[in-house]
Amino acid sequence: MNIGAKYLLKIPPLTFKNHIRSLSRRTQMAYNRFFPNQFPEYEPRSPNQSVVDYNIFSDQLKQAALDLKQTIVKETWGNSGKVYDYTLYLGALGTAFLVFKAYQVTHDKKDLDLCQDILKACNSASLGFGGVTFLCGQAGVSALGAVVAKQSNDDSLCDEYLSIFREMKLPKDLPNELFFGRAGYLWACLFINKNLGENTISSAHMRTIKDEIIKAGRKLSTRECPLMYEWYGERHWGAAHGLIGIMNVLMDMVLTEDEMEDVKGTLLYMIKNRFPSGNYPSSEESESDRLVHWCNGAPGFALTLAKAAKVFGGEEFHKAAVEAGEVVWKRGLLKRVGICHGISGNTYVFLALYRLTGDAKFLYRAKAFASFLHERGPMLLSEGKMRGGDRPFSLFEGIGGMAYLFLDMIDPSEARFPAYEL
Ligand SMILES: [Zn+2]
Repeated sequence: MNIGAKYLLKIPPLTFKNHIRSLSRRTQMAYNRFFPNQFPEYEPRSPNQSVVDYNIFSDQLKQAALDLKQTIVKETWGNSGKVYDYTLYLGALGTAFLVFKAYQVTHDKKDLDLCQDILKACNSASLGFGGVTFLCGQAGVSALGAVVAKQSNDDSLCDEYLSIFREMKLPKDLPNELFFGRAGYLWACLFINKNLGENTISSAHMRTIKDEIIKAGRKLSTRECPLMYEWYGERHWGAAHGLIGIMNVLMDMVLTEDEMEDVKGTLLYMIKNRFPSGNYPSSEESESDRLVHWCNGAPGFALTLAKAAKVFGGEEFHKAAVEAGEVVWKRGLLKRVGICHGISGNTYVFLALYRLTGDAKFLYRAKAFASFLHERGPMLLSEGKMRGGDRPFSLFEGIGGMAYLFLDMIDPSEARFPAYEL
């Protein structure tokens, strides 16, 4: 895996201990969560040379990703044909999602067939087991199943998955967040419509879910914040369970003018009330500036604010997205590998900012984080200095996310954070 990485960025040595000793205990705890970013700042080079270097770099990542994919398939699927956890987040659907990505890069038909097999097992495992979101529920299985079947030119299988999707019942007491709630269900609808055509899932149906989200948010609104939600009694802000994840999905819906204003006002409220460091609290009540994760903290915000900059235009969201990206650059080289709360997920922030601004500095930053993972990741993981979560081969906590990121880096302008960016 360590391929004499001439074209990867030079990784500075890890010399952090002396620096953190001088900090307060609380700040030390926050700093203990990530490696120091000792990459030099970006310096422009000749565009031609950059393209040559990037091509060599992405070839190396591609090879590493395909090797990782083999291991992940072996560990999470093998030949058993049995699935214990079917979800995208930690389970076999995450492997199917990765294998489908590999197929889109290599066009190897074996990957497409393998993906179908895993999906079939996930489908059997998911029936009757609730969960209506893309990340953690049956919606993810049938949405991806339909898209993969279409890619295989199997229209009847595609219809079968779509019927399962349409027959899913949403419980009345469903929360509104992305992980288990209405926003996560709507994201699955958006994924289907993006890949299979507008109105595959009817806009009237999606509107009723969107209306429920808006209604619930207005119920808990305050004088300063037009929309607010609770999940298990807490007013979360993060992408997985909170406000920013819900706003992320609402911005992809058809909204009335009033609703647009409420979404905008909610985003501005959070920008105004972020930590002095530029990071974002994990909930309304939290004063702890520790987490720089997609699920909680600046990374999830950077992705959504970059989207807001496109939806609403103007300088304020653009500036806020770039500022959230600065936090990720300084404190986002986490001692974890995954998409949800690891370096892989945080790298997507720079890819989103690169798409937003066209500034090569952000591609450089994405490259720096990816290089770190590529060169140091396997060793740090094996030494226990970096963690792959309880499911070390999963998409959202384990090396599945790293492999997915490496494949996405081949065409950075098309990269999308899994289950969050469309
Ligand atoms: Zn997380």
